[in-house]
Amino acid sequence: MADRPSLIGRFTPELEQIVVELGHKPFRGRQLAKWIYEKAAKSFDEMPDLPKALRDQLAEQYVVSPLYLSQHKTSSDQVEKLLVHNGDEQVYECVLLPYKDRVSCCISSQVGCPMGCTFCATGMGGFDRNLTAGEITAQYLWLQGLTPRRISHVVFMGMGEPLLNLNEVVTALKILHEEVGLSYRHLTVSTVGLVPQIRELATHQLPIHLALSLHSPHDDVRSRLMPVNNKWDVAETWAAMKDYHKATGRKVTIEYLLINELNDTADQAQSLAKLIQGTPCVVNLIPFNWVDTGNGFQRPSRERVRAFRALLESHGVNVTERVERGHDIAAACGQLAGQHQGRFARRNPSSQLTVIP
Ligand code: SAH
Ligand code: SF4
Repeated sequence: MADRPSLIGRFTPELEQIVVELGHKPFRGRQLAKWIYEKAAKSFDEMPDLPKALRDQLAEQYVVSPLYLSQHKTSSDQVEKLLVHNGDEQVYECVLLPYKDRVSCCISSQVGCPMGCTFCATGMGGFDRNLTAGEITAQYLWLQGLTPRRISHVVFMGMGEPLLNLNEVVTALKILHEEVGLSYRHLTVSTVGLVPQIRELATHQLPIHLALSLHSPHDDVRSRLMPVNNKWDVAETWAAMKDYHKATGRKVTIEYLLINELNDTADQAQSLAKLIQGTPCVVNLIPFNWVDTGNGFQRPSRERVRAFRALLESHGVNVTERVERGHDIAAACGQLAGQHQGRFARRNPSSQLTVIP
């Protein structure tokens, strides 16, 4: 770990207080916040309009970012993946996704994940720890530093289950909105379906986008894929999502991973259409990204995906399909595992760490 605390993760009033305690005017704190959150500065040296004395004082006691870079990979389709850590052994990943019309990024909320979904590389590697709001926000800022274009959209679909780390995730969402200046509507949290936390998130009244990883409307299939279904079944989980929609007015998304001849059948398309009837929502189809789960799961053919989609649409369901990118660097959905040494090992691969001052 860095020997000094980091500034990312603190709101402007706290930064003002820090500079005042160092004997400077409060507006210096606002300047500092601008450098950190709007210009993605990684060191105090990049802040020339702050007095040198203040920069030196800050550098003695703090670092800007808690992150260290371990690996940086670029895919053939311009997706960039960073493997980062905090000076210890535990690594986690974040991904930059440039599109023609916008730039998005995918960030992690935990190192690993304890939910144990049977199709997911992160889940197979087990769980290390929750990330702090600063560590979550710092992933966005690091990625922003890689591109001259503005990253306008953030999805919490990297490593981890965001709602198991609700307080830090909510603080990170507030920082991304209030300090970085992103629209809440462009921030998406994806959950495995933790019912009490979905209800708690609704009480925060943030107009963010909530996505539920449903993956099957049938309890027997869903339980095979996601152990969480043994605790909260499809009916309870969908009831919580409907209440979330009622409480926030936000349309919800269903993430639907498609695995060949397992959850891509006509009867499940029909049950899904029936389940969600009457609630404004979008179903986002994600063909399985191959991960060696030992379960023999396969990606369905284009024809099967098309047939599943057509059946949903024939019932009036709004359907989108995930454009998967970054396969050649294992940056697609479900493939983030901090893979470098062993298959799902998450140990820090680099002895020559790039240290962010
Ligand atoms: N824990 C949260 C968010 C991180 S996972 C959740 O489960 O929703 C982000 C998305 O990737 C989820 O919809 C998850 O089901 C999906 N996913 C996991 N493994 C996958 C794989 N091998 N192929 C395609 N999508 C996968
Ligand atoms: Fe965790 Fe989401 Fe992977 Fe399930 S799919 S193991 S909840 S990261």
